[in-house]
Amino acid sequence: MEQFINKQGWMQKSLCYLLGKTSVKRHGDYRLVDDIFFIGQGGSPKRAERFCTHCPVRKECFAYATLYKETGIWAGTTEEMRSLVRDYYLRELTRQALAEKTLETREASEWIPKRQPLQSVG
Ligand code: SF4
Repeated sequence: MEQFINKQGWMQKSLCYLLGKTSVKRHGDYRLVDDIFFIGQGGSPKRAERFCTHCPVRKECFAYATLYKETGIWAGTTEEMRSLVRDYYLRELTRQALAEKTLETREASEWIPKRQPLQSVG
């Protein structure tokens, strides 16, 4: 997991990273993070939502937490909220990925030289 987190460039741009959410176990200083993100330990969705509103990587955070079924509050959403939209969200991501693939194919086809029309002789 540690290796995977390090590959997530977006996490290091997040507000909660500054507070230690993604490095909780490393630093041990996570009281403030728990107060915001973990409901059972004093966190509240409203408080987290307000906090996450100002985060520049909220979209990436939501995608990650939804795909990997993370616990606690991510991107200002609870597990319950994410599970309600998960199937729809995954379908939408797939649809968008397919649409982008089609777009790439179209762009690539512009590089293929077009045949010149035959010129009539005489
Ligand atoms: S949206 Fe919230 S939970 Fe997600 S990375 Fe940003 S601050 Fe952290």
